Amino acid sequence: MIPPHVIKSLQESIGKDSVITDRESLLCYSYDATRKEAIPDLLLRPGNAEEVSAILRIANQEKIAVVPRGAGSGFAGGSVPVQGGMVLSLQRMDKILEVNRDDFYIVVEPGVVTREVQKAAEAEGLFYPPDPSSVNFCTIGGNISTGAGGSRGIKYGTTKDYVMGLDVVLPSGDRISIGTRAPRSVAGYNLTRLMVGSEGTLGVITKAILRLIPLPEKIVTLAAVFSDLHNATVTVGLILRSSIRPLVLEFMDRESIRVVRDILPVNVRAKGEAMLIIEMDGTAGVVEKELQKVEEICKRSGAIDVELATTPSDRERLWTARRSVSASLYKINPTKINEDVVVPRSRLSDLIGEIEKIAAQYRLQIVSFGHAGDGNLHINIMTDDKNAEEYGRAQEAVKALFEATLRLGGSISGEHGIGITKARFLPMEIGEQGIAIMKGIKRVFDPLQILNPGKLWP
Ligand SMILES: Cc1cc2nc3c(=O)[nH]c(=O)nc-3n(C[C@H](O)[C@H](O)[C@H](O)COP(=O)(O)OP(=O)(O)OC[C@H]3O[C@@H](n4cnc5c(N)ncnc54)[C@H](O)[C@@H]3O)c2cc1C
Repeated sequence: MIPPHVIKSLQESIGKDSVITDRESLLCYSYDATRKEAIPDLLLRPGNAEEVSAILRIANQEKIAVVPRGAGSGFAGGSVPVQGGMVLSLQRMDKILEVNRDDFYIVVEPGVVTREVQKAAEAEGLFYPPDPSSVNFCTIGGNISTGAGGSRGIKYGTTKDYVMGLDVVLPSGDRISIGTRAPRSVAGYNLTRLMVGSEGTLGVITKAILRLIPLPEKIVTLAAVFSDLHNATVTVGLILRSSIRPLVLEFMDRESIRVVRDILPVNVRAKGEAMLIIEMDGTAGVVEKELQKVEEICKRSGAIDVELATTPSDRERLWTARRSVSASLYKINPTKINEDVVVPRSRLSDLIGEIEKIAAQYRLQIVSFGHAGDGNLHINIMTDDKNAEEYGRAQEAVKALFEATLRLGGSISGEHGIGITKARFLPMEIGEQGIAIMKGIKRVFDPLQILNPGKLWP
């Protein structure tokens, strides 16, 4: 319960319409894509950084939890208010403030949907490469806070490689600007980089300066279907070892293909155990040559069907299908467990082998797809939480998956973050000392622990 005097001072600071108490609205802000749920006591919808600052000042004085939230599409429960308190939605702060062609950057508010950033850059002949599959609805603030990845990471890196500077409101309500509009800076500790992936636990991002690059002249897309799963993963290695660096190298296993088969372009409907979606970008001549080489590699390593997405609508349908896999799997198993482990690229085949072993050992269906070119797979353990015995096995399987991933030199999260779902596993990767250092950093930023409590560690 938020005391009435707090609600009153929030209303005076940011306006009555931005302080929301009705249960229907609170329910809408109680969950993210994990479907973990906790109803907040209050929803706040500030329109600018001053209002964010006023909210945090009041919350800090009153020691009330504040949970920043973008679109709520996170896969780790990061925006779920597990300890109640106030959800601070950044969705109204959705302006593109500047596109700078001379210095290759864009300045945006945190609530801008990522696809809108890409479009604004493209309109000026520029390119914002980070491309999470949720690009059409997730926000830039959420991307920065989770360190979002996506399919183009293989060639152009992920969100972290594009954040040049940030405006942040600290839990005290104080506002800081960090980073620079210049192409480089080594002025002290890299606070901008620290904010990336901090999952709303250190400060609230109210503005971002993002790096842009020139828009590629041409992008070509092909889909290669394999009747043998291992041929597909071997092909990933062969392409990566060639002189070609694809823009995208995505993997889907048999079940991932099956759940979106109806929306795949007709010519890539062939029955397969696995499919790779491969894109190359660059100047027309170079891209054509690379395309030929990649087609040859796929055929030599056993692809039963290699199809070019020649029209924009075929390409769009292919991507719609790929981006729909996760949601389609949720339809089958609303309580499936979705992990996003990452291994060194050369260990991808080993990871697939480990997943097969874990599926057999724990008698579970495991569906995999994702950013194979970066060694980052979405591992979906298909389970029903109403079946306690099976769900228990699924939890054991998650632990076994993380152990195998770490043995292979990888990480328990390639892009979704830790949030609440992986909090108990974080010590497996970074150790107790790592946790102690992180807790120390948290205390410097947020001594009263009001910002997004209950996340990152148990
Ligand atoms: C179908 C689907 C596909 C997806 N594909 C990908 C993918 O390919 N790659 C990938 O990386 N992720 C993917 N995701 C996960 C998700 O979209 C990303 O994690 C995304 O970055 C979350 O953005 P959001 O705006 O929804 O943030 P939210 O879920 O609202 O919040 C995420 C975290 O960021 C914090 N936060 C949000 N805004 C701010 C702010 N302004 N200041 C401080 N903290 C803030 C929250 O407190 C929370 O901890 C996918 C999700 C779905 C549903």
